[in-house]
Amino acid sequence: HRVYRLAKRPEGTPGRDTFDLSEEPVPEPGPGEALVRTLYLSVDPYMRGRMSAAESYAEPWDVGDPLRGAVVGEVVESNGAGFEAGDVVTGDLQWAEYATAPGPALTRVDPDRAPISTALGVLGMPGLTAYFGTREVARPSAGETFVVTGAAGAVGSVAGQIAKLRGARVVGFAGSDEKVAFLEDDLGFDAGINYKATDDYRAALDEAAPNGVDAYFDNVGGEITDAVFTRLNTDARVAVCGQISQYNAEEMPVGPRKLSQVIQTRATVEGFLVSDFEPRFEQAATRLGQWVSAGDIAYRETVTEGLENAPDAFLGLFEGDNIGKQLVKVADR
Ligand code: NDP
Repeated sequence: HRVYRLAKRPEGTPGRDTFDLSEEPVPEPGPGEALVRTLYLSVDPYMRGRMSAAESYAEPWDVGDPLRGAVVGEVVESNGAGFEAGDVVTGDLQWAEYATAPGPALTRVDPDRAPISTALGVLGMPGLTAYFGTREVARPSAGETFVVTGAAGAVGSVAGQIAKLRGARVVGFAGSDEKVAFLEDDLGFDAGINYKATDDYRAALDEAAPNGVDAYFDNVGGEITDAVFTRLNTDARVAVCGQISQYNAEEMPVGPRKLSQVIQTRATVEGFLVSDFEPRFEQAATRLGQWVSAGDIAYRETVTEGLENAPDAFLGLFEGDNIGKQLVKVADR
């Protein structure tokens, strides 16, 4: 079977040569372990952090290590892991066609509840990030204005819809006209801004958010965030979820430069990690599932076919190639 390993640490933007695809024997499950056949692999922006030696919240990979990520797969063999062959499970596994894992590291996925791929997107880590970041950190209420960046992505698309369910005016920044149409027509956002079609983010905000910004869910950072900070209202909440515009930067730009607005408005700027909310994941996933079933939350997936194309799927996150959750389909069930 095929396994992706870290070929070298990228400097700046990673390339195909960051990844090494090797042919290896299928591993045997040890006592208490299951052998899982990968069906879908998730590629996520945080993986960029794991490729560097610099400290980040996720532990760095060593050169030569197999890459890892969230996988949905099928149990092929259980060696006392508490599963049966044919069970669908999710867990943090290798970028590979097969992987072994101890039973407690795997969670059952109910294929009758929702398409199994949603365990990596709207009902998985990205959906949970949107859920807690919006409800616990940004906390938009009815009549307030909520702005989200990376709005057409896995986290942002769900965050905006949750803010909408709370009665806020919702504005999203995204990188194409197609994405803006997705936000406005499919997700019910009040306005989308194609940040690649304008240099004047402040003017775009004045049009889309004429009453200023009460809650800001930031996935990208950089100049868009500078602009949003100038439009924060009194007692605004900023949820710092991600800073993808900086992940490949070789030199950090100066910033943030608009903190005087934080003084004036008594805004709160708060970073968070989805894992902070782990004890409440099950309850939140159930709620997200209800919203999806009821049609209150729509979701989209961009599916790249074939394990061999996983690096392109990952690199595409930094180019905005994906709408909604970016997945790699490795095998049919
Ligand atoms: P997305 O599905 O949103 O994919 C990334 C998107 O980011 C791209 O589609 C692209 O869309 C946008 N983007 C890429 N480069 C830039 C740039 N330079 N400027 C502006 N936008 C850019 O990914 P996720 O939903 O998985 O993650 C979104 C963010 O949330 C990431 O920053 C991630 O690190 C963070 N995150 C944080 C977690 C936490 O616990 N705090 C947990 C999960 C994710 P476009 O076309 O609009 O440019």
